[in-house]
Amino acid sequence: MRLNLSPIINVPGGRIPFAFQLDLSELCFYGAYPISQPLEVTGEVRNEACALMLRAQAETELHLTCDRCGQPFTRKKALAVDTLVAVSLEDEENSDIILLDGNMLNLDEVVTTAFILDMDTKNLCSENCKGLCPGCGANLNEGPCQCKPEVDLRLAALTQLLKDEDS
Ligand SMILES: [Zn+2]
Ligand SMILES: [Zn+2]
Repeated sequence: MRLNLSPIINVPGGRIPFAFQLDLSELCFYGAYPISQPLEVTGEVRNEACALMLRAQAETELHLTCDRCGQPFTRKKALAVDTLVAVSLEDEENSDIILLDGNMLNLDEVVTTAFILDMDTKNLCSENCKGLCPGCGANLNEGPCQCKPEVDLRLAALTQLLKDEDS
């Protein structure tokens, strides 16, 4: 959505609320498309002592695949955007301020950029996900598999070795 800010640009105290949906289902992350549900975006732009403040909330439910066990899961994700917008930049170095295109604020672009930057690179279905057995590939969250406990066998061999050395 593009928001025309001309009604409030020179009006201290003026505000323009907005609410819209943003479809980011085409965005690919590591070969997957996790933002399959549209973002619900709400907020407002307010003229505070001649500075334009953009405040927005965006939320959706992500459809992810666990990095450890490979199972699909969903997670709610919410994001807050809180930034200054300006008609022109006096200080080119200040990249925290969002520049208007004329009097128009491109909200789609602002929210999309913020949302992408906030996406996690690691996704686990739960902090305690046990993952897959390296031996048989069973999902260990569903219970132990039939593989022999390798570590214990090695320990047993070591114990035996130490015993032999002692005698
Ligand atoms: Zn998992
Ligand atoms: Zn196994």
